[in-house]
Amino acid sequence: MTDSVVTRFAPSPTGFLHIGGARTALFNWLYAKKRGGKMLLRIEDTDRERSTEAAISAILDGLKWLELDWDDDVIYQYSRAARHREVAEQLLASGKAYRCFATGEELAAMREKARAEGRTRLYDGMWRERDPGEAPAGMKPTIRLKAPQTGETVIEDQVQGRVVWQNENLDDLVLLRGDGNPTYMLAVVVDDHDMGVTHVIRGDDHLINAARQKQIYDALGWDIPNMSHIPLIHGPDGSKLSKRHGALGVDAYRAMGYLPAALRNYLVRLGWSHGDQEIFSTQEMINAFDLPAIGRSAARFDFAKLENLNGHYIRQADDRALVAQFESVLDYVPDGATLKAKLNDTTRAQLLRAMPSLKERAKTLIELISSAYFIFADRPLQIDAKAAALLTPETRALIGQLRTALEVVTDWRAETTESAMRNFAEQNNLKLGAVAQPLRVALTGRTTSPGIFDVLAVLGREECLARLADQAAG
Ligand code: GLU
Repeated sequence: MTDSVVTRFAPSPTGFLHIGGARTALFNWLYAKKRGGKMLLRIEDTDRERSTEAAISAILDGLKWLELDWDDDVIYQYSRAARHREVAEQLLASGKAYRCFATGEELAAMREKARAEGRTRLYDGMWRERDPGEAPAGMKPTIRLKAPQTGETVIEDQVQGRVVWQNENLDDLVLLRGDGNPTYMLAVVVDDHDMGVTHVIRGDDHLINAARQKQIYDALGWDIPNMSHIPLIHGPDGSKLSKRHGALGVDAYRAMGYLPAALRNYLVRLGWSHGDQEIFSTQEMINAFDLPAIGRSAARFDFAKLENLNGHYIRQADDRALVAQFESVLDYVPDGATLKAKLNDTTRAQLLRAMPSLKERAKTLIELISSAYFIFADRPLQIDAKAAALLTPETRALIGQLRTALEVVTDWRAETTESAMRNFAEQNNLKLGAVAQPLRVALTGRTTSPGIFDVLAVLGREECLARLADQAAG
């Protein structure tokens, strides 16, 4: 029997869940799901100064919104500090680590010298073989790994292939600081081991750390998990991802009106491919996902592509589900509260009725909100500039006549209002468009809207007649 797969997402709560982190979480989630395993969540809050509660909430909210659920309880790394210390002591006892009493000045001088000589190994090993009895009094030592000084450290990475480091270039790592706190390098190894992590999937900015961590695994006699270091996300021009190019928190994508399913689909294709397929249902993603299919070159973030994909997901979405998304995004957009206050059974039903036509044109939920403005608008409507230009004395007179023609319709439906309008246009020798446009302006305050008969049906008789009266001449 093979051991079941355990992946983990291990964000540091020093900032929000950014788009790169979300992709890392997605890849871990997909791999665990594909292999019938677990994805664990570890909050790496060992850096007490930079970790915040707000960032932890943002990470948890972001994952929940993206529907990337984790297994078991969240593990907080800092709560395991005693265990990390214990392992450092164990390495000390077995002679795989040693106490280092080097002072700040000594370390600075070592660094300077290494730099001048063009060496990447900074620490000169001054306390490796020295008797701690020679230690300066009152000095709190760090605990360093007694790393191998010759030979190679090798990582067999699923994405990067075989990566080799010469040990002479790697430092004797600090495992425990002078204040007794573990370093990130030690904490990650101990936690991954204790949590039974079988696969580490993370950004390739951690590749060098994999080599350092391998040395700790070796010293402890533990097996290193299977490693996959995924290329970072770059901007559309290949440069480092900037805010303008999408380096934002997941909450920002939510506020921009993207659907979680669309964002997941966009993210899975950033760096991973499966033939030419662009659109994946969640189940298709799970079935097709695999680590060796992740490319080695940096993925490029492309907002236009994300928008198009989102438009596709909006068009495909169930109308009721879209009404729910519409409502939930109101908490994240400016003026959302005003709209929210107007949500009731009537407006919800109107929104649902209008959805088939609204969703055809919207690439984001924000565009959907904007095009649904006419449902929530207060009378008299605010007419936008383009629409106002169409309100001449002639069209206002026409609106008045049209209102009279529509007023006789009692069984108010798209079909009945349509035939009333057609008759009116015929009798007055007008093209339907010449009647529809002033009507649209009076009913929606805009020059574009869903089909005018849908608008009539959605708003209902009383509201339509009242809005027409507002704009009619005389
Ligand atoms: N906490 C690290 C980060 O947020 C990730 C560590 C890891 O995945 O091993 O970059």
